[in-house]
Amino acid sequence: MFRALLLAPPGAGKGTQGERLAERHGVPHLATGDLLRDHVARGTDLGVAAKAAMDGGGLVPDALVIDMILERIGGSEPLKDFLLDGFPRTLRQARAAFEWGSLMGRTFDAVIMLQVPEEELVRRLVERGRQSGRSDDSADVIRNRLQVYEENTAPLIGFYEERGILLRIDGTGSVDEITERIEQSLSPLLEV
Ligand code: ADP
Repeated sequence: MFRALLLAPPGAGKGTQGERLAERHGVPHLATGDLLRDHVARGTDLGVAAKAAMDGGGLVPDALVIDMILERIGGSEPLKDFLLDGFPRTLRQARAAFEWGSLMGRTFDAVIMLQVPEEELVRRLVERGRQSGRSDDSADVIRNRLQVYEENTAPLIGFYEERGILLRIDGTGSVDEITERIEQSLSPLLEV
């Protein structure tokens, strides 16, 4: 029904909202962090290559992530619809996705950007670290991930704004409220 991506800093709720939206719209939810953690757990070549960057809160090299995701959405039967979560995360990834999309007639319809103040992000991530024990949810790694987001991922805001597909959503409040806000901003795009 649509091709969209979630663009937001760590802790903004990409995973939670991604799962809900994908289910509501019946599209696959492809979260690069989850896919990469699965590779690490299985000890694949990609997992071995990705682990150190992930543990330190840095980015996995573009070429590896681009191959992984384009294989997933491209493959032998390219997906028509999908919700991407955590990709693209650099301008190089965004350009690769755009080139692929233009070639395949599958450019993105909407970019859902969740906006949450930094203190709130840190609070949520520290809490998640306590509960889930995710290895990159510790105080110093969290700071690094937020900085990596500002430097590498925030420039994508302009890239998608220029293309007229950026939806800015207030990412504070209850999970339900945020889902509703996203649905309201998406609906005009989905009706077309
Ligand atoms: P968060 O958004 O909370 O940082 P993710 O689960 O999306 O969590 O990502 C976890 C880690 O996986 C990132 O810190 C990074 O090391 C790696 N990663 C995920 N997506 C990408 C990507 N598109 N490019 C490079 N590295 C990525």
